[in-house]
Amino acid sequence: EDMCRITPDMIDNLANKSFPPCMRHLNDTLRTTHHLKYNGRLVYGLFLKAAGLNLEDALFFWRSHFLQNMDVDTFDKRYSYGIRYNYGKEGKKTDFSPYGCLKIIMSNVAPGDSHGCPFKHTDAIILRQRLAAYKVSNQTIEEIMELVNKRHYQIACQRYWEAIHGVPIDAGINHPNQFFEESHKFLNG
Ligand code: SF4
Repeated sequence: EDMCRITPDMIDNLANKSFPPCMRHLNDTLRTTHHLKYNGRLVYGLFLKAAGLNLEDALFFWRSHFLQNMDVDTFDKRYSYGIRYNYGKEGKKTDFSPYGCLKIIMSNVAPGDSHGCPFKHTDAIILRQRLAAYKVSNQTIEEIMELVNKRHYQIACQRYWEAIHGVPIDAGINHPNQFFEESHKFLNG
């Protein structure tokens, strides 16, 4: 299933070019605050794992961000367990699957949380600003907001995919990793 391997140095670039808005936002939050809350770490961690980031690189990636706020001991004590857990190396040793769109759309998102589906959970004004910052055209933003109003979140996400790649896509979007894989296929042939 691993169609590619990704490494920490590739992540920021991939987030902008190939990650869905939910994961792009988690990456931006991590980059600007050097922290994510529990659910954000879980959802983004499992996405990155399925995208091809191995455990060693995941520990490096999270550590490099979190160490801007804390020392190594605190990181190791509080956070490395959760990362190893995502990879089935702790606790029940389950090989956890990444969350699909429905699970993300249905999840509880409190103020200050960064996980969730932006089309469902993000305030309309902020969502517009974010899409504009992602260089989505005004016309497409209007189209997306109309879909959002009708609660067609995954179709809105499909429009976003088409906007950043400049081509239509046949498949609907049902999983953040599928969004990424379609992008990878398109960009790398
Ligand atoms: Fe992420 Fe799915 Fe929402 Fe797109 S529709 S932003 S992939 S949860």
